Amino acid sequence: MRRLNNLLTVLFVVIALLLLNGTSRHYIGAHLPPAVRSNLNARWQNFQAELTTAVTRFTDITPATESGTTSTSASIGSSQSTSDSSAATPEESIIQNVSLANTYYYHYAAGTPNSVHKVFAAAIATYNRTGIVKLVPGSGQDGDNQISISTYSKNEGNPDYNAIELGIGGPTIITSALYARGAVNHANAKLNVYYPQAIRESVALHELGHALGLDHSPSRSSVMYPEDQGHTSLAPADITALRKIYQQ
Ligand SMILES: [Zn+2]
Repeated sequence: MRRLNNLLTVLFVVIALLLLNGTSRHYIGAHLPPAVRSNLNARWQNFQAELTTAVTRFTDITPATESGTTSTSASIGSSQSTSDSSAATPEESIIQNVSLANTYYYHYAAGTPNSVHKVFAAAIATYNRTGIVKLVPGSGQDGDNQISISTYSKNEGNPDYNAIELGIGGPTIITSALYARGAVNHANAKLNVYYPQAIRESVALHELGHALGLDHSPSRSSVMYPEDQGHTSLAPADITALRKIYQQ
């Protein structure tokens, strides 16, 4: 009899533990201290913010030279760097020490959607308002600076924490003794229309910035910050860098 009682007690304890365990598994949130809960909430919000950031990051570009000797590739690098608003906007290395005219002929590839025309038209007007560069419609001659504007569609799949590509753009420096300045820039600027968030004035400003010779900036106020900040105007540091490239 005593053994049976012991057995029943053991069974009772086991069942009670199972029930409690089940209960705590389903209602664990209700038992968390407020401090732990708010900490979890904060981490969840950070996580969501990181996700949002991940899908608005630019991925660019591979500037190149033809018949030149230098070639570099701009990568995103560490994008969580400083947001120092006074940081200078750097130049693409391949356009340094190259003397470029400030006039560019730009044209759109056949089939470029109206929405893309619209965001580039706004971005082009912004660069023209600086008075430093002059972007005019047309194809130009071989010896003229040119910008080819187009789109492509690239699914990044599951981007996880990596960047998705909103656009690419960059200078291509062609050197020739036939050209008055010895070099011209046949650049391109493209938007990845697979992602609707790529068709934005801020992305067009960024890719055109690469086309004109600007590199990524660590400053969030710059249109050349590697993640889309939605800027529709150039930062003073962007204008300073342009002036340096085109020597005005
Ligand atoms: Zn970029």
